[in-house]
Amino acid sequence: MRDETKLVTAGRDPEGNFGVVNAPVYHASTILYPSLEALQKTHAARAAGERVVSYGRKGTPTTWSLEDAITALEGGYRCQVFPSGLAACSNAMMAFLKTGDHLLITDSVYGPSRSFCDTVLRRFGVEVTYYDPLIGAGIADLIQPNTTVLYVEAPGSQTFEMQDIPTLTEVAHGKGLVVMMDNTWASPLFCKPFDLGVDVSIQAGTKYVVGHSDVMIGTVTATKECWPALEASAGAFGQTAGPDDVYLAQRGIRTLSVRLKQHMESGIAIAEWLKGRPEVHSVLHPALPDHPGHDIWKRDFLGASGLFSLRLNAVSKDAIAAFIDDLELFGMGYSWGGYESLVVLADPTSYRTATHWDNTNPLLRFHIGLEAVDDLIGDLSAGFDRLNTAK
Ligand SMILES: *Cc1c(COP(=O)(O)O)cnc(C)c1O
Repeated sequence: MRDETKLVTAGRDPEGNFGVVNAPVYHASTILYPSLEALQKTHAARAAGERVVSYGRKGTPTTWSLEDAITALEGGYRCQVFPSGLAACSNAMMAFLKTGDHLLITDSVYGPSRSFCDTVLRRFGVEVTYYDPLIGAGIADLIQPNTTVLYVEAPGSQTFEMQDIPTLTEVAHGKGLVVMMDNTWASPLFCKPFDLGVDVSIQAGTKYVVGHSDVMIGTVTATKECWPALEASAGAFGQTAGPDDVYLAQRGIRTLSVRLKQHMESGIAIAEWLKGRPEVHSVLHPALPDHPGHDIWKRDFLGASGLFSLRLNAVSKDAIAAFIDDLELFGMGYSWGGYESLVVLADPTSYRTATHWDNTNPLLRFHIGLEAVDDLIGDLSAGFDRLNTAK
């Protein structure tokens, strides 16, 4: 079955539910058992790895609907839902790291994931090394006897470097490492991490899975080998997500393919238009042929989402404000993946440690929503006029 079909069918059970199309919203804490025997049977089944309703926190058919849809699309063995994308990132790491271990994580990682490493992981005695996202096979030189996890995110947060994931996973597996990837940018549709050798895949479902800017949720999907450790750790931390939010995510994912194709098409059209503007120094979008990671993107990804950055020719902060403050269709905000267009100013120099980022050319990150491309271009054109007047 193709992905478009899987998105419609996976994780749904109308026959088991009076013909209702979507999974019902089960609100549950207590689960009642009719007899001691039934109680003991359920708990034995659970201990044997079967999926049974045994306690509210441990999942219901609402949760499984989303988890199964993600697994069908992304690959891997099973998926665990988390209350936010960041909770998915931090819990994935906690499941596979212990005191004395060494973590290799990309210097281009999502900022709050980095904060988690620098605060919580270091406090618990985990050694953390950031690596250059362009390192490729050179990752071998950074692997120590105590290295246990390689954490990849591609393209890079805000800066959009691509990584040679098949090479990284090959080297890492040679040394017995677990490889995890934050796959939020591509969504489960446009990158299949398990085909690239990844063991654990993370989604901030908040973004494209939900797709409507109104729910926080995360997922972690793992191979059969990695699943027990993930499940045990998430269970020990009491990780769960509210059933209404899970419901909205499993509802959102049904339309992911049509939404994402439009985000891709409009994103590329606008990225190309921006590239032709005299105010723009460069556009950082892996689907553009002159992007340094374009060949890797073409080889490993099935499409592009609507998120990319550009670097402006050096200009004052006032001129940038004149450009973005009065945009009518681009909101200024961080969490992307909804139907609306967004822009934010970013400065990677402030957090990078393994690589140097030159911020002479101010970085703007765009999310291209589902508005008509002509309208978005008109809005940006007027913005550039304001920038030029304020310069
Ligand atoms: C947004 C985001 C997260 C965190 O997701 P939240 O749901 O906002 O906690 C993690 N990784 C990436 C790449 C993201 O873009």
